[in-house]
Amino acid sequence: MGWRIQPKIEYILDKSLDDGISREEADALIRLDLRSKETYALMETADRLSRQTFGLKGENHLHIGVNLEPCPLNCRFCSLTKEAGIFTEKIEFEYEQILAWAREAESNGGDALNIMTTGTYSFNRLLELGERLKKAVAVPLVANTRDISHAEGEQLLEAGFVGAYHAVRLGEGRDTPLKKEKRIHTIQVFRDVGLKWMNCVEPVGPEHRPEELVELMFLAREYGAAYSGVMRRVNFPGSPMEKYGMITEFEMARLVAVSRLVMGRVPRAHCTHEPHTASMTAGANLFFPEKGSSPRDDQADTGKGRAMDIAACRRMHWETGWNPDLPSNCF
Ligand code: SF4
Repeated sequence: MGWRIQPKIEYILDKSLDDGISREEADALIRLDLRSKETYALMETADRLSRQTFGLKGENHLHIGVNLEPCPLNCRFCSLTKEAGIFTEKIEFEYEQILAWAREAESNGGDALNIMTTGTYSFNRLLELGERLKKAVAVPLVANTRDISHAEGEQLLEAGFVGAYHAVRLGEGRDTPLKKEKRIHTIQVFRDVGLKWMNCVEPVGPEHRPEELVELMFLAREYGAAYSGVMRRVNFPGSPMEKYGMITEFEMARLVAVSRLVMGRVPRAHCTHEPHTASMTAGANLFFPEKGSSPRDDQADTGKGRAMDIAACRRMHWETGWNPDLPSNCF
């Protein structure tokens, strides 16, 4: 028993820094034994790649969920659905509250504001919010909303948004009522109109097969995501996905590392959610602190629930050797 790792894995990790990796190679890395030397070598390689390409910048992009409603789209992993029955009334956070969260992020070195709405929230209200925030804070705005047309993409830009978060979720069309093709079309809209596309492979659970994960990792690379790490599914109390359980932070770190090698030289950052340290030593450098509504919480304001604030995320950056005070690489 020495320090040697399997030659096949050594070959994949060595070539990953220059030539990237293939789908078959990504699949092999996902299937590695979690406690093996090969998995630690994988995480070290991804960490080294990120520190070389991101210049030690630790990113904090504040998620602000601006509204809650019993969402009729009923994505099975989401706590904001009508079927979950947790939220029975429509709630929209006051502009003054949203502005206070935005200013708090700005004064704590936040690098972006991700403005999230539920699936049927008014697009015009989102545009109005963008226009107001754009005038009030200097932090770049990223929209996280429903599928959009080219005209709506142009409107987001005019309102002051510079990017948009949009994921083809795991189980899209099976655990959601939405079509994968429509989600991909919206990603193409972002590219066409000049909005930066932000992504995550999500929401990962133990039941997802390596092929499903690899497909979404490569979609992010092919469409040039500004970042595309990994978020695990968080099972809210009573979730229909509870029967599958949840992956651990350490399992998430292994996937973060694989997705980092898949992304190669394409991304400007690499994310993980929810914030934790393991993935920060496996290729991730981007956290999402959170305020307002969250599809993972049973509290209306996740800032008073399970979310971490920006101060906690900054501490984790320092603990893992990332500097949140450097300028963002994403914008
Ligand atoms: S994920 Fe979005 S669209 Fe799906 S149920 Fe939740 S709020 Fe609605």
